[in-house]
Amino acid sequence: MHRSPVGLEFMTPTYSLVIPIYNEEATIAELYRRVSILMDRLDAPTELILINDGSRDRSLCLIRELHDKDPRVCYLSLARNFGHQIAVTAGLNFVRGKVVIILDADLQDPPELIPDMLELWRQGYQVIYAQRTQRKKEGWFKRLTAYVFYRLLKRLADIDIPTDTGDFCLMDRQVVDVLNAMPERNRYIRGLRSWVGFRQTSLKFERDPRFAGEVKYTFRKSFSLAINGLVSFSKVPLQISTYIGLFSAFIALIMAVLVLCWRIFVPSSPLTGITIVIMAMFFLGAVQLVSIGILGEYIGRIYEEVKNRPLYTLGEVAGFEGCKGPRLLG
Ligand code: UDP
Ligand code: MG
Repeated sequence: MHRSPVGLEFMTPTYSLVIPIYNEEATIAELYRRVSILMDRLDAPTELILINDGSRDRSLCLIRELHDKDPRVCYLSLARNFGHQIAVTAGLNFVRGKVVIILDADLQDPPELIPDMLELWRQGYQVIYAQRTQRKKEGWFKRLTAYVFYRLLKRLADIDIPTDTGDFCLMDRQVVDVLNAMPERNRYIRGLRSWVGFRQTSLKFERDPRFAGEVKYTFRKSFSLAINGLVSFSKVPLQISTYIGLFSAFIALIMAVLVLCWRIFVPSSPLTGITIVIMAMFFLGAVQLVSIGILGEYIGRIYEEVKNRPLYTLGEVAGFEGCKGPRLLG
């Protein structure tokens, strides 16, 4: 059984590792093994914050067992599945360390990279985000959609969000305090992280395949994350309908002029073209529906913000002595 140095339970940790967990029973033991090797090597006390995001498998039992045998392990258990971004936000609300590192539970983000991140932090950087140079063994569809999405986001967003970066990063306490104080409910963490500024740098790495289990980000969840990123950080989609509207009006004007000339100069011409009319109707109908949908995305988000509900509900919390607690609750 692992025992930390005497009194560590009551010592404020210097490093905080934040790991969201959703149905990861197959990876938790290996995750703990690799992370604890790293924690033993670090030069200061470390806390490992595991956030159970409403798992339906044995994840929570395994997390409780880890907490019982190693006082460095603390955990939060959300009362249902709130999604990856909210799970990470909950973890950030509870961290006590001077340095915070976010990583995935499936070991796609190698913990062994953390000492290099800490080295950059010592050099004065306050955000060190890991940038994937390669994704090993991920399907072509995921790689293609991720490739297109990150480039689209970079072009459309009001701020510079680096391509091919996930949530795997190291952040200084000062940055985490700013993130925790941000009131918005739609939390696209990698966007907010870029938005806050501070001294940022990247660390390149090759993304390993998932250690075990299925991908927890279903297509629907990834799509919703992508829409969230775009809508939270860009107003361009709102303007698309204006541009398409202007373009259609321009085409309609040209068509009107052509039809008029045709009528005047070729009086015998039969003016058929019902197919064209129907196509135009469908096209314009589609444009209008898409535009309304885009408006809906923004209005839905305004509605979310206005409701002002807590971001998550907690079912269970353990191991956070001396923690001031979440700032975003209530
Ligand atoms: N995750 C979570 N809640 C969810 C979905 C995922 O906490 O609703 C966690 C999951 O356990 C993992 C991380 O988020 O630690 C990334 O999930 P996954 O590996 O499935 O996504 P991907 O590798 O495709 O980004
Ligand atoms: Mg993964």
